[in-house]
Amino acid sequence: MKPTLYIVIPCYNEQEVLPITAPEFLQEIRKLQKNEMISEESRILFIDDGSKDNTWSIISDLARKDKTYCGIRQSRNRGHQNAVLAGLMEAKGKCDITISIDCDGQDDINAMDDMVKAYLDGCEVVYGVRSSRKTDTFFKRFTAQSFYKFLNRMGAEVVYNHADYRLISSRVLEEFANYKEVNLFLRGMVPLVGFKSTSVYYERHERIAGESHYPLKKMLALAFNGITSLSVKPLSMITGFGLTVSFLSFLGVLWAIIAQVVGNTVAGWASIICIVCFMGGIQLVCLGVIGEYIGKIYMEVKGRPRYIISERTDDKLENK
Ligand code: UDP
Ligand code: MG
Repeated sequence: MKPTLYIVIPCYNEQEVLPITAPEFLQEIRKLQKNEMISEESRILFIDDGSKDNTWSIISDLARKDKTYCGIRQSRNRGHQNAVLAGLMEAKGKCDITISIDCDGQDDINAMDDMVKAYLDGCEVVYGVRSSRKTDTFFKRFTAQSFYKFLNRMGAEVVYNHADYRLISSRVLEEFANYKEVNLFLRGMVPLVGFKSTSVYYERHERIAGESHYPLKKMLALAFNGITSLSVKPLSMITGFGLTVSFLSFLGVLWAIIAQVVGNTVAGWASIICIVCFMGGIQLVCLGVIGEYIGKIYMEVKGRPRYIISERTDDKLENK
């Protein structure tokens, strides 16, 4: 049976872009339907993320004109990641696959063909990965690449050059729904769910119209959220740092004692140095230990699933 596809598109103040890109999404759906790759029930789902312009009325008009379009509206602006999540959860029970994509025409819509093909070949998650950053300014390219490297170094594993253009099967979404955390960093969370995945490469274009909602400040906030949501490594680093400082303090104490014995110090200097070094080291180690516990509490509080089963031998028996 042909799978039902929902294209999930977050929109925030996109009145200039939407009238241009909405027909392109429809065209893609029609093409996939013509090629017998997806069912007739497939839809384009817009999520209006509390826009202040005419975005919602444009979405409502589209939905009136063609039943392939549908939309939901958030009660207020909650940010890109929350908008995508709202769309995925809305689509979950109604379809077999979702593809999330921005509405600004930057991501190549044609890559959806390969994504659906990969799904039909047995992949449950397909990441859209930018093949090059030619269209970016040097600054954007440099900051974005540093962003991915830094994230990985900090223990938050993300697919290099992949943003939020991806196919997820509803089966993976069912499991993903058990990740109840409020601070979202979807591109880091999806790989945690597991299942067979692959990547599809595409060229990213410039924004068709309107302005980016991700200035440097928001990008840094996203990076910080990514690290602190996925990893407790910064806390563990305090322990490592504390141990290093303790070792250096030990050397400092030795130095103070030797200087005292050799006799070229003022009275009281050695004892002060010894106390300062000792306290410095011990305080950081203690902070590190507390950090380790806080890290554990943080991970426990998230209540993430402890295991996810992807296959059972019984399934195969039933299928026979
Ligand atoms: N977006 C959203 N809520 C926000 C900000 C952005 O839903 O608070 C949507 C926006 O409409 C677009 C996507 O998220 O479809 C990506 O935003 P944008 O294109 O501004 O980011 P960039 O591509 O410049 O990183
Ligand atoms: Mg964009």
